[in-house]
Amino acid sequence: MTTQAAISDFYPPEPEEVARLATLPEVRSAFDWFRSQESQFARWQLEVAQIAAPPFGESARAAWLAERFREIGLSETHTDEVGNVFAVLPSGGSRYVSLSAHIDTVFPANTPLSARQQGSRLFGPGVSDNGAGIVALLAMASALRATHIPHSLPFVFIGNVGEEGEGDLRGMRHVFSTPRWRDAIAYSVIVDGAGSDTVVAEALGSRRFEVVTRGPGGHSWSDFGAPNPIIVLARAIEIFRQTPLPASPKTTFNIGVIRGGTSVNSIPESASMRVDLRSASMAGIDRLERALRQALSQAAESENQAASHGTRRPQVAECEVVAIGNRPAGELAADARILKVIRAVDAHLENNAPVQRASTDANIPLSLGREAIAIGGGGSGGGAHTLQEWFDCDGRILGLKRILLTMLALSGA
Ligand SMILES: [Zn+2]
Repeated sequence: MTTQAAISDFYPPEPEEVARLATLPEVRSAFDWFRSQESQFARWQLEVAQIAAPPFGESARAAWLAERFREIGLSETHTDEVGNVFAVLPSGGSRYVSLSAHIDTVFPANTPLSARQQGSRLFGPGVSDNGAGIVALLAMASALRATHIPHSLPFVFIGNVGEEGEGDLRGMRHVFSTPRWRDAIAYSVIVDGAGSDTVVAEALGSRRFEVVTRGPGGHSWSDFGAPNPIIVLARAIEIFRQTPLPASPKTTFNIGVIRGGTSVNSIPESASMRVDLRSASMAGIDRLERALRQALSQAAESENQAASHGTRRPQVAECEVVAIGNRPAGELAADARILKVIRAVDAHLENNAPVQRASTDANIPLSLGREAIAIGGGGSGGGAHTLQEWFDCDGRILGLKRILLTMLALSGA
């Protein structure tokens, strides 16, 4: 494996390199080409947004993407055992610059997908997150094919599964655990959502739990006094809610799903909730997890105490905490080449984009000490993870130029 120092030594200083790339006639014609293809980009985006891709149900969308990769004329188009779609634009080099976009959405399979266009705006669940990213991949692949820009390192395009929610980054985790790609990807550029105004170079860690409370259940009248799992959950939430959270490192939580019970006249046998803990530091997450467990045992204890006063038989409420997600934190070294490149590209394009911390597919390579960033696919968007999601194509071109220059500078052109 080539060492980082060796790679950096090999390349010219980034600002000069980006300025040189931007004047190449092939790059200029790629920029013009982006401008002329906007209606095709919007068409692709509406088309892909019409294909359901819930977590663990991305195969129809993967097939659509593989078809587009073949149409564009990329090589080695294939789908791996977890459903990630790969295609390659070859060149002489042995290590790759990867451009990836997650193809899954947060929306369940039965969500009505009515993607539509109104002027420069596209509407529909998933149209921006991650329709914008998927279209950016197709735009890069087809521009590079159309303009024959020379590049040293080959490009691999990846439409990966499992970024959202329960997917728990399984697609990217798999890419970086397979022998074919683990050491072969030198740089990862991840396109997630709309915009050109951020660079995610720090990975926000998160830990997710399914909490289940259980009790004996019973009749609401004749068994009154038995411990009630819904009340245990409610008590636990109220206790946990009061956990002091530091502003720095920023630490947050969410209770996103709550379920339980059978009928209005039954004491429930179980109840559950899903909890998302996040922090810029792993220690912050550890602290929150301890507070959550403490809140639960305290809540169960109070409910059991209350129940023991009134009931005829010993009945206890219990809590189970099951981990359902774990996204590692990590960050780019301050002198990482990929960061120098994106900064040089942004300076060249007069684009202001501060470095941010977020939870994205970049968590996986960043936690492994690899060079990775997550950026937007241009344009603007809003209402992510809601049925009112939208994407505005105005300004897409800035995002595409930014991605292209970044890929070329990383590859060496
Ligand atoms: Zn996304």
